[in-house]
Amino acid sequence: MTDCLFCKIRDGDIPCDTVFENDDVFAFNDVNPQAPVHVLIIPKKHISTVNDLEDVDEAIMGKLFSAGKNIASQKGLSVDGYRLVVNCNEKAGQTVFHIHMHLLGGRNMTWPPG
Ligand code: 5GP
Ligand code: ZN
Repeated sequence: MTDCLFCKIRDGDIPCDTVFENDDVFAFNDVNPQAPVHVLIIPKKHISTVNDLEDVDEAIMGKLFSAGKNIASQKGLSVDGYRLVVNCNEKAGQTVFHIHMHLLGGRNMTWPPG
């Protein structure tokens, strides 16, 4: 998709601080971190929201979780804990319409989220 911020980041057209990349997944630090660790994990495939997921996308979403787990481990968060969040549409706070998983960690989290 040409007019998508995260597609442009994926393609290197907008700079980012890359954390992880493989054939299917790209991860980079959030520009406005909400925790000491705040990484965004995206599928390289453009999918706008959770509502747009198709059966064929089940594997890629599993790969986002695997990346989240592995990055959390590399950041030393596995034992203390961390949060993986996917916002869907406006009321949930989604502002960029290319599916992304937030990996948040390094501080105490409250529940329920705001
Ligand atoms: P959402 O609110 O859609 O769940 O999350 C979008 C996230 O993207 C926000 O946490 C925001 O800080 C981050 N973000 C927005 N623009 C940029 C950018 O240009 N670069 C990076 N690295 N993160 C961005
Ligand atoms: Zn995109």
